[in-house]
Amino acid sequence: MERKSLTAAVSSERIQQDMATLACIGADGQGGVTRLAYSPEHWKARAYIRDRMESAGLQVREDAAGNVMGRWPVGLTGPALAMGSHLDSVPHGGRFDGPVGVVCALEAVRAIQESGFRPPSPLEVIVFAEEEGARLNHPLFGSKAMAGILDPRLLEQMKDRDGVPLARVLEGVGLSQERLSEARRQREEFLAYLEVHIEQGSVLEERNVQIGVVTGIVGITFMEMVITGRADHAGPNPMERRKDALLGAGRIITEIPVLVAQTGSAAARGTVGAIHAHPNTINVVPGRVTLGVDVRHKEKEEIRKLARLIDLKAGDICQKSGLEFLSRVLTEIEPVAMANNIVQAIGETCEEMDITCMQMLSGAGHDTTSMSTLAPVGMIFVPSVEGLSHCPEEFTPLEDIVCGARVLAGTAAGLINNFT
Ligand SMILES: [Zn+2]
Repeated sequence: MERKSLTAAVSSERIQQDMATLACIGADGQGGVTRLAYSPEHWKARAYIRDRMESAGLQVREDAAGNVMGRWPVGLTGPALAMGSHLDSVPHGGRFDGPVGVVCALEAVRAIQESGFRPPSPLEVIVFAEEEGARLNHPLFGSKAMAGILDPRLLEQMKDRDGVPLARVLEGVGLSQERLSEARRQREEFLAYLEVHIEQGSVLEERNVQIGVVTGIVGITFMEMVITGRADHAGPNPMERRKDALLGAGRIITEIPVLVAQTGSAAARGTVGAIHAHPNTINVVPGRVTLGVDVRHKEKEEIRKLARLIDLKAGDICQKSGLEFLSRVLTEIEPVAMANNIVQAIGETCEEMDITCMQMLSGAGHDTTSMSTLAPVGMIFVPSVEGLSHCPEEFTPLEDIVCGARVLAGTAAGLINNFT
């Protein structure tokens, strides 16, 4: 099988048509889309891709979580090389986050078909549901269901952003919560999982590189800090007598970048993304502040270390300011390593196709995170203009998406040959 024939078989017209059609579904009139999971818009986008899969001769089925799977060649059994992404979006999200991976996966299959290469194992295109977590506040919902790693206790209490219970959200599109566990699949069903995604950062664009070969997805820890002082009138009490919780919180916030820098690691991140001051009134000294802290790193141990450093420093600041300090870990998501042979295969494909590439980390989670529990995984990043994502300005030029599809098709074809 010649990779050159695959390069030629990837059709920019088909990619353009699929991307343009998807961009119209749930279009918000400002260049972005709103396709919350399990909404009519999400279901319409899914139906379009389902239809395109069928036109390309894939055997399509859906699971109990609303994921769509298309297989080719029909009738060929055994473990599959899967490729995919998602079609749900955040509110007023971009047109590229998710659809790029779905369209590239479908195009990779179409290109392989046209190149005349008959894979010895099946290829599978997967469209995952509720990747963003914007509806159910539970990211990777569909892929976690497939991996069998949804926490059943959480499901019972899960509600969407409007307070609608999960069971009713699913019923709205003809799915049932009782049957969710049927979406689970086994390791034996997969040879590998590959995902093309927009970078959502500006590294590739700044370095003028076409493809990012992802080596790992960072781990994430969410912490909640509660700083308690004393609410007080903003006037009568002298400054030195106050116990201003927001002032303490401010000191913690400015200290976090310093601690991150001290790790000396380019992979470390620390962010205070949420802040609630109480009573949040202009003429009252804030008595209590809650901070939401996000800590990331590619190594599990390093996240723990950094989270602990931030926690100690915050406690120290509060103690010196006469404030009470409480903190707890809300969520811990482990880092994911991409399979070495896949990282290598993506790099080799780029080289053979004369496409520039560089290795990089993913700072955000993706469906690949869940799929890593079922199969060896790999990710291919395409550039995001100005690094913008989750907004209507999100943009990736067509030629970059075409490049992603070529690398995906070449990598998939190469891997599937080696697997057998
Ligand atoms: Zn995404």
